[in-house]
Amino acid sequence: MALLKEVRDYYGDLMLYINGDFKRSETDEYMDVMNPALDKAIARVPIATPEEVDEAVEAAVDAFERWRDVPVPNRVQYLFRMKEVLEANKEDIARIIVQNHGKHIDEARGEVRRAIENIETAIGVAYTLYKGEFMEQVAPLIDEYMVREPLGVFAIISPFNFPVMVPFWFLPYALAVGATIVVKPSEITPLPFYWVNKLIHDVGLPPGVVNVVYGRGEVGERLIKHPDVQGVAFVGSTRVAKKIYELTGRLGKRSLLQASAKNYAVVMPDADMDRAAANLISSFYGNTGQRCLANAVLVPVGDAYDKIVPKFIQLARQIRLGYGLDEDVDMTPMVSRSSMERVLKYIEIGLDEGAKLSLDGRNPKVKEYPNGYFVAPTVFEDVSIDMKIAKEEIFGPVASIIKADNLDEAIDMVNSTRYGNASSIFTSSGKAARVFRRGVKVGNVGINVGIAAPMAFFPFGGMKDSFFGVVHGQISSVEFFTDTKIVIERWW
Ligand code: NAD
Repeated sequence: MALLKEVRDYYGDLMLYINGDFKRSETDEYMDVMNPALDKAIARVPIATPEEVDEAVEAAVDAFERWRDVPVPNRVQYLFRMKEVLEANKEDIARIIVQNHGKHIDEARGEVRRAIENIETAIGVAYTLYKGEFMEQVAPLIDEYMVREPLGVFAIISPFNFPVMVPFWFLPYALAVGATIVVKPSEITPLPFYWVNKLIHDVGLPPGVVNVVYGRGEVGERLIKHPDVQGVAFVGSTRVAKKIYELTGRLGKRSLLQASAKNYAVVMPDADMDRAAANLISSFYGNTGQRCLANAVLVPVGDAYDKIVPKFIQLARQIRLGYGLDEDVDMTPMVSRSSMERVLKYIEIGLDEGAKLSLDGRNPKVKEYPNGYFVAPTVFEDVSIDMKIAKEEIFGPVASIIKADNLDEAIDMVNSTRYGNASSIFTSSGKAARVFRRGVKVGNVGINVGIAAPMAFFPFGGMKDSFFGVVHGQISSVEFFTDTKIVIERWW
């Protein structure tokens, strides 16, 4: 199915997907879905009713026993087909991501690519990790083995910033192991997954294996609280993750919660400064700073300050703003007006805290898109570790620069925040890189890499307030959707 051949003006009302059918919601509440470059509504998303959420879960419950009975090699065929339809439509999906999220087309293409890689990895998982373990003769005439079984129905709740990739950190693995799911995409960027849902429909999965509902937090909560939902895989803010962690704890359910970040990039005096600067620019300002792996605080060590900071600011100043469908632009708008306002508020906070605003990205003029939610690259120098702009997640194109005297002090700074998602070091010393890797309390470490994004066949890291739970997303989510049964067997 071809999704779209050109940019469309209006996509209409999104439909729920329950028991294999697209269904108009009975709700009387809809939200506008916006194109952030144009400040224009491009669709409406329903806020599903509690009854509709329950209906989606019940469809997944009905489907579960049948789906788990489908032999693994047959189950995997659906994933092969899913990969094919996503491959065939990847450019269209990327263009829809740009229209709703606002990110650059190349970033949207990368996002779709990583979603597909997760399908590929899940296919491998079905044949390898899922097959269990066997030990013969653990005692005379006794064998012992472990089988892995799907637990049932799971909720998948995703954030605005990777509307296609994040659901695929979980969806293909759940399906590979025989679980069934209800997905709730972000209410801010629901459009890309809606179109992916249409493609998933074409794959012909048995009805009820995948269900999709839309809405805000209360829809997510209703889903989690449903007695037949075994657990929730969530990606979003720490504020919401903590709430869900407490809720699932009280309900005795599983949760896998990947949350907010404040990532520090350390530059040593021996780094290759030209390469480091280019890499840092893409880390700080790619996706307009709206990546949980984006670096947000730059920590030059000793002499590195004078070598890296002028280059960094010079490159940041050259960044061209515009619409993400234009291949020639470098940076695109914030996802929403309220996100833009939050970033502007943080710039005020930085000024109030006494930091030096070396590059002011407020109110840029973007000629053809006067109504877009643009904030240009912003740089603060003279930041200290106790300032809010050094500690709190801004999630926008704002860099804070703090000087460190040596590597130990830089590592202490990395570890001073409540978050532990990612951190990078730029150096030509293997020893410094090793000390850094061992010293930082973060889940994803970049060595001369600004965005330390794990491939699908590694778990997605995260520590401290950036992660709650035990197993992580991508490949290791297999453990989340399953439990093990240990069998001890004797035949006289
Ligand atoms: P958010 O927490 O506002 O929303 C995330 C999702 O949770 C949305 O679908 C939302 O509707 C839903 N939700 C809100 N309240 C809920 C509740 N009480 N119960 C159940 N569901 C609820 O996050 P966001 O603004 O969409 O995303 C940005 C955040 O996500 C940032 O903090 C970013 O760092 C984080 N993030 C983290 C990772 C990671 O892997 N660690 C990846 C991407 C984004």
